Amino acid sequence: MTHQVKLGTKPVNGSRGYFLCKCDECGWLGSSEEATGGGELYYCPICSAQEPDEQVGAAQVFNTMLAHIDAQAARIAELELALFAENQKRLDVERQRDQLLAALEKAVVRQAYKPGSGPDWWEQGRAAIAEAKGGAS
Ligand SMILES: [Zn+2]
Repeated sequence: MTHQVKLGTKPVNGSRGYFLCKCDECGWLGSSEEATGGGELYYCPICSAQEPDEQVGAAQVFNTMLAHIDAQAARIAELELALFAENQKRLDVERQRDQLLAALEKAVVRQAYKPGSGPDWWEQGRAAIAEAKGGAS
C-alpha cells in the first residue's frame, strides 16, 4: 500500500487570478481554481478544509510532486505484478484445456464409430474437439 498524494489536475493560471495552494489537512496541492467556495472563502476540493495555504515553498512543491511520482511508480509496479499473476493463471488454464482436449481427442480417435453412429459421449467429444479447433464437425 502506498501513501496517497493528492495533486490538482489544472495548471495554475496566475493571469486569471488563481494561485498555487496546499491543504494542511490532507496534503492536496493544486490551483485555487479547483478549490470550492468562492470570493474570500475557499475550501480544499478533497477534504473541504478551509483556505488551503497559499504560501507554498518550492521545496514543499518539489517534495509533494516527488512523493506523487514515487506513489505512481509503486502503483505501476503493483499493477504489473498483478497483471503477471493473472497472465500466469490464464496460461495455466489454457495448458489444462489443451491437455484435456488432447486426452479427449485420443479417446475419440481410438473408437471406430462413424460420425453420427457413435454413443452420445463420442459425438459430444467429436463436436467439442471440432469447436475447439474452430472448424465444423
Ligand atoms: Zn484537504
